[in-house]
Amino acid sequence: MKAQFKAQTAAIALAAMLTAGCATTNGETGVNQTNPIAEAQAEAEYSPEIPAGTGYFASDSTLPFLTPDFSKISEDDYIPAFEQGMAIQQAEVQAIINNPATPSFSNTIVELEKSGRMLGRVARVFFALTGQNTTDRLDAINQEISPKLTAHGDAITLNPELFARVKAVYDNRAAMTMTREDAKLLEETYAGMVQAGALLTEAEREQVKAINSELSTLTTDFSQKVRDATNDGAVIVDTRAELAGLSDAEIEGAAALAKEKGMDGKFAIALQNTTQQPSLPALENREVRERLFKASAYRSDQGGENDTRMILAKIAELRAQKAALFGQPDWASYTMYDRMAKQPKTALDFMEQMVPALAATQRREAAVLNERIAADGLNFEVEPWDWYRFANKVKAEQYAFDEDAVKPYFQLDKVLEDGVFYMSKKLYGLTFERRTDLPVYHPDVWVYTVFDADGSELGLFYFDPFQRPSKRGGAWMSNFVDQSDLWDTKPVIYNVLNIPKAAEGEVQLVSFDWVETTFHEFGHALHGFFADQRYESLSGTATARDFVEYPSQVHEMWATYPEVLQNYAKHYETGETIPMELVEKIQAASKFNQGYDFGEVVAAALLDMKWHALSPAEAAAIDTPEKVDAFERQSLGELGLEIDLVPPRYRSNYFNHIFSSPAGYSAGYYSYLWTEMLDKDSRAWFIDNGGLTRENGDHYRKTVLSRGGTMDYFEMYRTFAGREPDVKYMIESRGLADGE
Ligand SMILES: [Zn+2]
Repeated sequence: MKAQFKAQTAAIALAAMLTAGCATTNGETGVNQTNPIAEAQAEAEYSPEIPAGTGYFASDSTLPFLTPDFSKISEDDYIPAFEQGMAIQQAEVQAIINNPATPSFSNTIVELEKSGRMLGRVARVFFALTGQNTTDRLDAINQEISPKLTAHGDAITLNPELFARVKAVYDNRAAMTMTREDAKLLEETYAGMVQAGALLTEAEREQVKAINSELSTLTTDFSQKVRDATNDGAVIVDTRAELAGLSDAEIEGAAALAKEKGMDGKFAIALQNTTQQPSLPALENREVRERLFKASAYRSDQGGENDTRMILAKIAELRAQKAALFGQPDWASYTMYDRMAKQPKTALDFMEQMVPALAATQRREAAVLNERIAADGLNFEVEPWDWYRFANKVKAEQYAFDEDAVKPYFQLDKVLEDGVFYMSKKLYGLTFERRTDLPVYHPDVWVYTVFDADGSELGLFYFDPFQRPSKRGGAWMSNFVDQSDLWDTKPVIYNVLNIPKAAEGEVQLVSFDWVETTFHEFGHALHGFFADQRYESLSGTATARDFVEYPSQVHEMWATYPEVLQNYAKHYETGETIPMELVEKIQAASKFNQGYDFGEVVAAALLDMKWHALSPAEAAAIDTPEKVDAFERQSLGELGLEIDLVPPRYRSNYFNHIFSSPAGYSAGYYSYLWTEMLDKDSRAWFIDNGGLTRENGDHYRKTVLSRGGTMDYFEMYRTFAGREPDVKYMIESRGLADGE
C-alpha cells in the first residue's frame, strides 16, 4: 500500500483541500483592482514578514539529499516544530492574501504550494516514526497534534480571502500561458476549495453543515449498532460435540466467551466483520455452520434495536442531498471528481463487464464443490456456509504446495538485491550502493544510494523489513523528501514491511507473499524515484486513489518472471534455482476459488457504488427496511451474480467501510479492482512487447512513472499502452471463465 499520511506533509493546505468537508465561511470577498504598472512594482517590492522557526526542523537537513538526521532529532522537538510550522504557514497564507498585486499564478498558487515547508519537514519525519518506530510519547503527541493539524488545514482551505484570489487566477486561466503541470496545479487547488464548499451561498453552507452534522451522528450510530449486533450475534451452542472440527484451543475460547456472556457451560462463536466466518471451514456440523453463517449475514437486518437498514438508507439519502448542493447528480460523482474513473458509471461499467465471467465461474466452482460433497457421501447442494469447507478440501487435493518447500529459495537480501534491484537494472538501468554512513531511526533499516542509468544520483532508498512491536502492521511506502524542481530536491524514499525476523545467526528467509510485497512496495518507490515534477503536490505517487496502487501492482509481475526469478530465487543451502514447477504451482493455486474470493469483493464494490449512484429522489424512495433488502438484492441480482451462493463480502447492513464514517471509503471500494485492471492490462503490454527490456522500462518510466499527478490518467494510460485498458486481462489472470 501507499501510506495515506502523505496527506499531512508539506502542502498541507492542498492536501486538506482534497479531503475537507464543507465550508463555514463566506467566499465572496472582493479583490482589489489596481493599475498594471503599480501591480508589477508591488509584486517586486512586496516582502511580507514571516516568522522564523527554531530548532532542528527550522531548516533543511545538512545531510546528503536533505535526508533527516535522526542522530539530531529529539522527541522534544516535535510539538514546538508543529506549532511553529503551523504559525509560519498561517503567516505565509496571510501574506498571499495581503499582497497588493493582482492575484497571479505565481503570487497565489505557487506561493501557496511553497507555504508550510517547516511543517512539511516535521510532519514527514513524525508520521514516519509514529508508523514504523513509535513510542508512548510519540503516540501521545500524535493525539494532541492531529486535531490541530486538521483545524489548521481547514483554516487555509476554507479561507474566503484566499479563495477569492485563487478564483481570480482560475477565472483568468484561458488568458494565461502555463505549462501542463501549472495548469494541473491551478485546477487541483481551485477544485479542492470548491469541493470544500467555497462556491456555496451562505444558505447552502448552512444546509451542508446540517447534513454533515446529521451524517456524523448517523454514521456513528451505524457503527455502534453494527458493533453491538456483531457482539450479540455470537452463535451459542450447547455441546462440545457440535463444535467438532475446531481445535481444542478454539473450543476453549468458545467456552470462555460463553462464560463471559453469562452462559457458563455453553459455547459461543464470535462473529467477524466479513460475511464469511473463519470457523466455517472447520465446523463438521452442517446445522451449526448454517446458524453461524446466517448470524453473520443477517446480523443487523432482523428488526429490533440493532437493525441498521433505515440508518444506512438515510445516510445514502443525505449524501445524495449533499452532492446535489454541490451541483452533482449523486454522491459518487461528488466524491470521485479527482479520481481516474471520475464518474460512477465508469466504475460500474467496469465491474459489470466482469459479471458474466464471474457468475459463470461461480456456477462452475459450485458444480465442482457439489461433486466433492457427493464424493464424501453427503446429500446436499453447496450453500455459502459449506463453500470453504469443501473448497479447502479440493484445494488441498489438487493445488497444494508446501510453503516450507518454497521458503528456502527466498533469502531476504537476495530477494532485494538480486531480485528487486536486478529488475530495476534490467528495466530502467538503475544501480544501487549500500551505505552505512547515514543515521537511521532503527538499526534494522538498510540505506542505499540509487543511481540512474547515466550514473547520476537519483535518490536515497531506506528499506525497513522487519516486524517489531513499535511498528504498525502491513507494508507501505512514503517519502522523507519529495522530488521537486521548485525546491531542487531529489526523492528520499522508504519501504516498510513486517517480515518476521529470523533468530540471531539464522539465514533470513521469507514467504512468497513477502517476496511479492517487496516487489510491490518497490514499485511505489520507483514511482517516487522517477518523479519529474516541479510541484510536490503533483510529484511521484501524489496521484488519485484509484491510480496510486497501479504502478506498484505491475511490479509484482517481475517476482515470478523467469529471468528475474532465476537471478534471485536460489536455495540458501544448495544454491539451486527454484524449480519452475514449484512456481507454476504457486500461480495455479492463486487462481483457485476466484469465483468466490473475487466474487464477494466485486459484489461489495458494486453494492457500494449502487448505493452512492442514487439521486436524492431515488434514495428517498428507499424508505422501509424491506426496500433496503430489495435494493440490495436487485442491484446485484439483476446483473446476474449468483448472490445466493456468493453473497457480498459485506452486506449493506454491516458494511462499515462505507457507512461508519461521514465519507470513509464510500464510492471508493472499487479502487483496488480498478488498479488491478490497469495492472493486468499493463502486464499483457510488457509481455507482448518482449518482457524485461530497457526499452520497455524506459517507455513505462517516460509515460507513467515520471508523470506524477500531472495529467488525465486515461490520457496517461493511452500514451503508455497505445490503447484503452481492457478488463479481459484481469478476467484471464483471475482464471475466470466466460460462458458455461
Ligand atoms: Zn501499495
